[in-house]
Amino acid sequence: ARAPDVARPVTSLPGANGPARPAPQPGAGRTEGPVGRVVVVGSVNADLVVQVQARPRPGETVRGGPLAVGPGGKGANQAVAAAVVGAEVTLVGAVGDDTHADVALRGLRRAGVDLTEVDVAPGATGTAVVVVTPDGENSIVVSPGANGTVQPGRAAAAVDRAPAGAVVVLQLELPAATVEAAVRQAAARGLRVVVNAAPAAALSPAVLAACDPLVVNGSEAAVLLGQDAVGDPAAAARALLALGPRSVVVTLGAEGAVHASQGSEKVRTVTPPRVAVVDTTGAGDAFVGALCAALADGLDLGDAVGLATLVGALAVQRPGAQSSYPDAAEIAEARR
Ligand code: ATP
Repeated sequence: ARAPDVARPVTSLPGANGPARPAPQPGAGRTEGPVGRVVVVGSVNADLVVQVQARPRPGETVRGGPLAVGPGGKGANQAVAAAVVGAEVTLVGAVGDDTHADVALRGLRRAGVDLTEVDVAPGATGTAVVVVTPDGENSIVVSPGANGTVQPGRAAAAVDRAPAGAVVVLQLELPAATVEAAVRQAAARGLRVVVNAAPAAALSPAVLAACDPLVVNGSEAAVLLGQDAVGDPAAAARALLALGPRSVVVTLGAEGAVHASQGSEKVRTVTPPRVAVVDTTGAGDAFVGALCAALADGLDLGDAVGLATLVGALAVQRPGAQSSYPDAAEIAEARR
């Protein structure tokens, strides 16, 4: 354990204290695109997905289709997306010492994400149990497992080790105090902080003030604004900006995204290409990961939202979360 407030014994994955892992090759296989450093402080899950004709009623058992087991978790998804866009990515988080850990880390390893800040905690890896009906609608139960063991001091210490100029991105699948500590540490170091307020939850004034940008979808925006739903996206972006973030991005599915920054009246809209949608799972994470990679490379917010929108639109054309993400060549092709 490296941080003083780690309650349970943890070990780190090979690379920190264990045998050396070959360093990810910056730019390996990349044809063009942003290069920058991204540190993701977030969740790592195994997703267990079953198709059903109808979801079970209370007390009922239903027969499902084949079980699909794959990597997930918003932190891991965003880390993979940032890596395929070309960033050098470090993930800060934890997996358990169970068999799900390997599955949960599979996509990260394949994408060359640095896992030296991922701890192994005794117990279960975070796991999402997903039931999908023929209309594509899903019902999800998430068991946080090891994600819930990431202590505030542990995350803050990792952020302290982040390279200068890194973009630090967080979602809300780690304990709230951990998110808060990591954001404060990043802000104290002057690092750019991106917060994806998903799953939706209130944010402290300190976290809100550090966001550059705060990224939410429509329903998350509504929760932060205390509304049932958002009507006009531009009005929602302005109202979110009034809560204190330096900039905001509201994603709008097929409509793309709007973005706005402090000091400007303008809310700008970026529209994705029209595509045939297969499965939108993980599209939001593809968007956020790509956005962070672009910002880390020095793109301005508008250009970064442009690239993120493109990557999101590519991700909806294949099933699954990480399995739906494009590779560097596809991204380069789409940008032409
Ligand atoms: P999810 O929960 O499905 O991962 P989300 O609700 O967090 O997604 P969305 O706003 O639905 O986020 O989508 C994020 C981005 O993905 C959009 O800004 C867009 O770039 C892309 N996207 C999503 N749906 C579509 C679509 N139907 N056509 C084209 N692009 C899409």
